[in-house]
Amino acid sequence: MKLTTLKSVADTLRSEIAGFEPELMSGSDAAQVLEAFAELEKLAAAGKLLAARRVESSNIWRKTGHRSAAAHVAEATGTGLGPAITALEAARQLGSLPATDEAMRDGRLSESQIKEIAGAAAVQPDAEQELVDAAGKQPMSVLKLRCRRVKATGPDQAATYRAIHKGRYLRNWTDADGAMRFDARLTPDEGARLAAAVKDETDRLVGETRRAGVDEPRKALAVDALVRLACGGGRSGAAPGSVPGSGHSHRAPGSGADSDTGSDTDADADANTAPKTPGSSEPAPSGPTTMVHVRVDHAALLRGHLEGGEICEIPGVGPIPVEVARRLAVDSILSVLVTDGVDVTVVAHAGRTIPASVRRALLERDQTCAVPGCDIREALEIDHIHPVAEGGLTTLSNLVRLCHWHHYLKTHQRHRIERSGTEWLWIPPDDARAGAFSFSRAGP
Ligand SMILES: [Zn+2]
Repeated sequence: MKLTTLKSVADTLRSEIAGFEPELMSGSDAAQVLEAFAELEKLAAAGKLLAARRVESSNIWRKTGHRSAAAHVAEATGTGLGPAITALEAARQLGSLPATDEAMRDGRLSESQIKEIAGAAAVQPDAEQELVDAAGKQPMSVLKLRCRRVKATGPDQAATYRAIHKGRYLRNWTDADGAMRFDARLTPDEGARLAAAVKDETDRLVGETRRAGVDEPRKALAVDALVRLACGGGRSGAAPGSVPGSGHSHRAPGSGADSDTGSDTDADADANTAPKTPGSSEPAPSGPTTMVHVRVDHAALLRGHLEGGEICEIPGVGPIPVEVARRLAVDSILSVLVTDGVDVTVVAHAGRTIPASVRRALLERDQTCAVPGCDIREALEIDHIHPVAEGGLTTLSNLVRLCHWHHYLKTHQRHRIERSGTEWLWIPPDDARAGAFSFSRAGP
């Protein structure tokens, strides 16, 4: 690297730009010039980061009277201290990020892209190459999201979540006008639930005020909604909620839609053996009233933590730990992305509510208790073979109808049921059997 070369490049550019008359160019020429300048800018960003790293390590910044290397970089580049700090962080990480370093020196990455990739790849080095490739093909917004997801698979996420939970607060104060002001900080899942409840109540108020011919801004009605929810007078619990930022309301597939429950009992007693009211597939009034959609890879939900490339996040809010998603699965509806590499192959629901189509298929398949030899047909209960609390999905393949006794044995006496081809295997616990029973169901 010769300083004289750099100076002559700069002089050449300076005289070019002095005479630059873009209005005289065709649109396609202008587009090419734009690309050429973008490349120069990327190369310049590479040079700046590499030089900044040496400015920091050489301590030249002390001799030039700066209080930190970042202050030196900020002054030299005409940026703020914040961008200079992240630039130096990225520059330090580049030493251990060969793919990023190579793409940067080749003029393929902008400074913003380098910062994003370096921050994420420092947490998950395995993801580096994939992020560098993505930077070349996808817009910045997509790259940022991917980097956030990569960071979310890092070991710090659970700790971050716990720290947010521990430091949660709701404060209020009176401002200079005498108005009451609130500020709250809470975990993304609790925040999404609260926001969904307020949104639902706001929707109701918007409808009421419109019918009354009153024109009030939505943000004003949102405050009324919050007051009604907290102080009473609202209709909280009347309907499942929706997710903020997702643009449309998500209704639970449970209530109303599947009234064809017959005598079935949704006593999926993974945690509860209390007798249930027949046909009580609708959420109890005291149960969860808002629904949080979580996009989570099913493998991660079963495993309990994320591995490379997997996601677990509330759309429009952000990543959450897998253990939180499992907790939400028990009392909310989750949309679960079953992925095959990067492609989403299936979207299924977690949570206990059984969609009508799945319920119909289940009633058709399991006309008696599924345990081989048991022909009970009345008051069958629906069981999640793999419990919801452990990431089991509400899909036909994970549901089975059992009589009350066999359901009790499975839930509380460690019996298991498995599907093998078209047959069910009923497997008693190790200490109560010589071998697994396996025979076809008797009868016609
Ligand atoms: Zn049975």
